[in-house]
Amino acid sequence: MTVPVPKAELHLHIEGTLEPEAALACAARNGVELPFASADALRAAYSFTDLASFLDLYYALMAVLRTERDFTELADAYLARAAAQGVRHAEIFFDPQAHLARGVALATVLDGLGAALAAAPARHGITTRLIMCFLRDRPAAEALEVFEAARPWFGTLVTGVGLDSAEVGNPPAPFAEVFGRARDAGLRRVAHAGEEGPPAYVREVLDVLGAERVDHGIRSLEDPELVARLVRERVPLTVCPLSNVRLRCVPDLAAHPLPRMLDAGLLVTVNSDDPSYFGGYIEDNYAALGLDDETSRLLAANSFRAAFLPEDERAAHLRAVAAHRFG
Ligand SMILES: [Zn+2]
Repeated sequence: MTVPVPKAELHLHIEGTLEPEAALACAARNGVELPFASADALRAAYSFTDLASFLDLYYALMAVLRTERDFTELADAYLARAAAQGVRHAEIFFDPQAHLARGVALATVLDGLGAALAAAPARHGITTRLIMCFLRDRPAAEALEVFEAARPWFGTLVTGVGLDSAEVGNPPAPFAEVFGRARDAGLRRVAHAGEEGPPAYVREVLDVLGAERVDHGIRSLEDPELVARLVRERVPLTVCPLSNVRLRCVPDLAAHPLPRMLDAGLLVTVNSDDPSYFGGYIEDNYAALGLDDETSRLLAANSFRAAFLPEDERAAHLRAVAAHRFG
């Protein structure tokens, strides 16, 4: 078996790593009724037509996650799979509002995830960051509330904020205040933009939210001036090929814009987004694109260049990527 290239994963929603078997086990343990009799029936339900239909199932299945143990096991299962696919550093998103809305306390989510992340270096050889995402289809005032409630974990467990969920019709600007508070609190800032939404949203997350990375950003290609700026400012884009195809942002893998993005000189990375729903973890995304070895090496190096890592750790990872032997 070939050894996967060492890499960082920078666009990964922990709730999107809930595998059907784990969801059913969790449901049984917590006495949560799910309208699916088997893992196969659940897998069959994963046939989305767009972002909105995916999000409907995604939020429905979250109902099984109730206890600290559920969140610890969820994150630990992801880290085990990620390690097997060459991940050495993972910057993990979570959606606190999706859990608060169903009566699960922030401490349950954070302490549960925190236990798995604390064990990750020794257990899986992976360093981590945790990025708290706000739901852009919920009011900005709610994001401010959850931001303030999470302050006790800032700097120790939560080191960044993000913006996710349904993009079309939900521009980034209303979240300027919460992103400003995040900057003042010393947190890193990322935001989804240009997945289904227009290139204007990519400009907005940079100019209004102060985002340091753009999640997806594939529609930037429609705007040559924006591409020139992203290249000039070395803004990383966290691209998720299998997600783009499953959510019909791109018709098929052959039409995926990643090669054009690389040709344009963009700082592109490849990631898995919601891997249990989209048919593959990070190495599966690398493999799906049919890349040659040196392009895989470039993408792996980009993942560490774009990561929120101290410079000595970044340099060590880049040396490992340069020394990697494909074969
Ligand atoms: Zn995402």
